[in-house]
Amino acid sequence: MAELSFTYGTMAAGKSTLALQLCWQLRESRDDVALWTFGDRSNTGVVTSRIGIEASATAIEPGEPLTEFVAELKKQNVKILVIDEAQFCSMDQIDEIARLVDDEEINVHAFGLSADFMLNVFPGSQRLFAISDRSQELPLTTSCWCGGRGRCNARIVNGVIARGGDQIVIGDAGGSDEVHYQVLCRRHYRSGELGR
Ligand SMILES: [Zn+2]
Repeated sequence: MAELSFTYGTMAAGKSTLALQLCWQLRESRDDVALWTFGDRSNTGVVTSRIGIEASATAIEPGEPLTEFVAELKKQNVKILVIDEAQFCSMDQIDEIARLVDDEEINVHAFGLSADFMLNVFPGSQRLFAISDRSQELPLTTSCWCGGRGRCNARIVNGVIARGGDQIVIGDAGGSDEVHYQVLCRRHYRSGELGR
């Protein structure tokens, strides 16, 4: 029986690294593994990880119909599908992906963030929590500057935690751009203290 699994975590916790590692290991012994990524910021179809490994991937827009991508999977006889940035999937896309598991016997390993910068669960992740066969948190978590467990992906705009705004604004974790993200413990997310 094919399975739909969802692995989630905070930003910079090694989500893409794990997705890439899984692809790499599977592809050592088989050629029926595909990699998809949603809402790719550079639109180059490459999944990159913070520690430098990368692989080419099929880049799909959030909400885009999956018909042609599904046809391609069938043509290539794919049996394992790895998905990065699954939080950006629409609920409809997740439902369609679940049909690949149930009707086409394709094993799907989805990786994504659970919650956004306001601590609301992303729609794609919400659907995955509801219907995946297994969901598990990444074994590694990012620490807050205080050493506490990082639970919250804070969006920092001009040095201050954003408490409102669009759900998706692209920025790097740990960067120094005007808009970037920083993983904080619950206490420091609440207080807004960002450390040094
Ligand atoms: Zn803290």
